[in-house]
Amino acid sequence: MTPVQPAADAGPRSSALYERACRVIPGGVSSPVRAFRAVGGTPLFIARGAGAEIVDADGRSYLDFVGSWGPLIAGHAHPQVLAAIGAALVHGTTYGAPCAAEVELAERIVAAYPQAEQVRFVSSGTEAVMSAIRVARAFTGRELIVKFAGCYHGHADHLLVAAGSGLATFGQPSSAGVPAAFTACTRVLPLDDEAALRELLQREGARVAAVIIEPVPANHGLLPQRREFLLALRELTREHGALLIFDEVISGFRLARGGAAERLGIAADLATFGKVIGGGMPVGAFAGARRIMARLAPDGDTYQAGTLSGNPVAMAAGVATLALLEREAGWQRLEERGAELERLLQPVLATARFPLQLVRVGSLFWLSLHAGGAPRTAQPLTREESARFGALFHGMLARGVYLPPSAYEACFLSLAHGSAELARFVQALGSTLAELA
Ligand code: PMP
Repeated sequence: MTPVQPAADAGPRSSALYERACRVIPGGVSSPVRAFRAVGGTPLFIARGAGAEIVDADGRSYLDFVGSWGPLIAGHAHPQVLAAIGAALVHGTTYGAPCAAEVELAERIVAAYPQAEQVRFVSSGTEAVMSAIRVARAFTGRELIVKFAGCYHGHADHLLVAAGSGLATFGQPSSAGVPAAFTACTRVLPLDDEAALRELLQREGARVAAVIIEPVPANHGLLPQRREFLLALRELTREHGALLIFDEVISGFRLARGGAAERLGIAADLATFGKVIGGGMPVGAFAGARRIMARLAPDGDTYQAGTLSGNPVAMAAGVATLALLEREAGWQRLEERGAELERLLQPVLATARFPLQLVRVGSLFWLSLHAGGAPRTAQPLTREESARFGALFHGMLARGVYLPPSAYEACFLSLAHGSAELARFVQALGSTLAELA
């Protein structure tokens, strides 16, 4: 982590809140990347959002390219999503018993996602992955899990091994507090390397329950993979009797109605979801063929549960979001917005005095500071590159544009990002780059 001198700091209210927060919340935040440690300065405390904008505690507004890290595909406080939440809310917040909304959301996921026949809801992406792995182990009767360096699958103990996202930013290969015994059944391979997987499966294939991957890795920057590599994962897992798990917590219902699986034309055995399917409420889910999902209690022997799982208010937000995306040709519009941003941005990127390139897949994009082409494997940034990102981040913030406060995080477009918002972004970047030069 490179300490960076912020160009413009948070206002007095955010600063006072941060000071109070640091007394009672570790690092002042509920999730580490929010703390601005990688870019320097004080995190903004957000008071409200509307469309593509957020407003901080000091009343300053920003064009938001974080979108709560993915859920807000319709933008902040979308009236239809709020109306659905409001309508559900008057009937209570939770029942701890089945409700109609969870059936509707499950039906929508099954109808949209390739080879999903059944869905179970949880309250976060972490839980979705944890539970999918448990059912994969139960189904195959095997113990080993294979993951890829640079992919993040939540913070379950056995997956905090060379994980991406916040951990990469902090330069730690794994977390304290995780016993070696808990990660002993996890293997970590490089992305973009089918030979490495082939070799591992030849050696230990009979013990591998599942290979898990973000089909469009988006937690160590954006690392789009060759289709042949993903096809090799599909074929090799089949050959060795292991399940393939697509972690679509970010990509699900964002890159297409059927997620990355539809976009790539490759189906996994199990998929995990979060973010978009909850419309901004705490929701995760995992889905797969009935023969696999039937292992879950109460039908099967694999325990999995949650007090607030299938929460009626959260389910209503998810249903409203997916309905809106379908009604408004959301995925097509997001693709068009992404392409427009790419077109507008190219001439501005060319003015940078240091390597700066746009990596984009649909409505996900990453400003990569790596020299050379778009990386396909997790590459650490140098101190100098990290410092450059800090300067870029604060230059954009000073111009009213809120980027993820880490060089390793992807940016998110929403349906609320129209041509005017894209133009503002491009202009701010042009002027920031001119200042940095
Ligand atoms: N998988 C992926 C691909 C993710 O991006 C994330 C979170 N960013 C998770 C799992 C964990 O989700 P959550 O933060 O909701 O636990």
